[in-house]
Amino acid sequence: MQGLEMDEQSNSNANLMHRRANAIPRGIGNAHPVFVERAENGEIWDVEGKRYIDFCAGIAVVNTGHRHPKVEEAIAKQNARFSHTCFQVAAYESYVELAERLSELAPGDFDKKAFFMTTGAEAVENAVKVARHFTGRSAVISFDGAFHGRTLMAMALTGKVTPYKAGFGPMAAEVYQAPFPSEFHGISVEDAVHGLNRLFKYSVDPERVAAIIVEPVQGEGGYIPGSAEFLRALRGICDQYGILMIADEIQTGVGRTGKMFAMEHFGVVPDITTMAKGLGGGMPISAVVGRADVLDSIPPGGLGSTYAGHPMACAAALAVLEVMREEQLCERSAAIGVRLRNRFHTLQKNVREIADIRGLGAMTGIEFTRDGVPAPDLANGVKTLAFEKGLLLLTCGSYGNVLRLMLPLTITDELIDEGIDIIEQAILTLTTASQLEPA
Ligand code: PMP
Repeated sequence: MQGLEMDEQSNSNANLMHRRANAIPRGIGNAHPVFVERAENGEIWDVEGKRYIDFCAGIAVVNTGHRHPKVEEAIAKQNARFSHTCFQVAAYESYVELAERLSELAPGDFDKKAFFMTTGAEAVENAVKVARHFTGRSAVISFDGAFHGRTLMAMALTGKVTPYKAGFGPMAAEVYQAPFPSEFHGISVEDAVHGLNRLFKYSVDPERVAAIIVEPVQGEGGYIPGSAEFLRALRGICDQYGILMIADEIQTGVGRTGKMFAMEHFGVVPDITTMAKGLGGGMPISAVVGRADVLDSIPPGGLGSTYAGHPMACAAALAVLEVMREEQLCERSAAIGVRLRNRFHTLQKNVREIADIRGLGAMTGIEFTRDGVPAPDLANGVKTLAFEKGLLLLTCGSYGNVLRLMLPLTITDELIDEGIDIIEQAILTLTTASQLEPA
């Protein structure tokens, strides 16, 4: 009996957190002090049997829910045949089929090709390699607040110093950042375009710029949607100077914004699209999809990676694309977004710290301020209270004051409402005092 208790205890969240702290460096962040036992669609159970509603989806990854039966089946079937041969050594059809499917689905009616990597950052690195090789130019432009990953080029492209860049220099050379427009933060499209033109005047010859990389909706930067006006202006600038436009759809892609790819909302066609996260339904896979002439510029051997386009991940991705279509998850994503934002707009009427509610499709952000000043303590406080009540949430934003909601697109309305109730309660608890102040 005592032995059993010891066993149970040694598997507690607290014990595992202790071992984590001793074994894992601090740099690997930790949003919740919890260890997972199992997960199913929109729910996760921890090692102590506590159940959580999952509004994180593994950071916008399991768009088709945890353990979707069709995705599970595809992975199991593939594993029963072979798990790894390395596509460059001995190829398999699923890689080719996935490239064909994504080339059909990605924006643009020109000839497209696709190749695969494992992580989002690798897709970004490779998109830049391709753009440099094709254009024969070396400079790359990204945006303030952007997030493109933690590897050298992706880190340099990322527009937030702490914790992503501080102490990790020197950065990859010839990377420049321009302002990203955000009406709420007082940066107009005109300001953003002006910022780019300033770069061209003072910092880099536009004729030396290989690519501009942009998230159609900034993710880590605060869930800030771009606009048709801005993205069209960017497209125009790219065309004017022969610069390639890379849409980083790693977080926005695969239905997250209510369309397969967020760029479809804006009627703007990039030359290259990067994808990852939702594509594999939980298996690690990323993609670079784009103009065939651009991607074909690199000679054999210039692209590739041992695990890239892993057979199990390709099988999972093909199943994900089928599930997205069969279950109309783009439409569902749009409906989830409306449901979330309606409820929070109602709440906003009584909570002045809710400064902004924004998003596209299911991708929804709630920004907190106090007297106009970013209030990361509120965003974090809501996250912590929600965790105690059994809901997993994450924050984002340049000041960490935005709650971001990333629901599996297969989640039920009941679970969504239960999750919203928890957030609402947490917000009311943490902001009641300020409501009592005289107006
Ligand atoms: N680009 C965007 C837009 C992202 O949101 C992320 C991940 N949050 C990345 C790139 C990097 O992806 P990964 O963590 O898989 O390297």
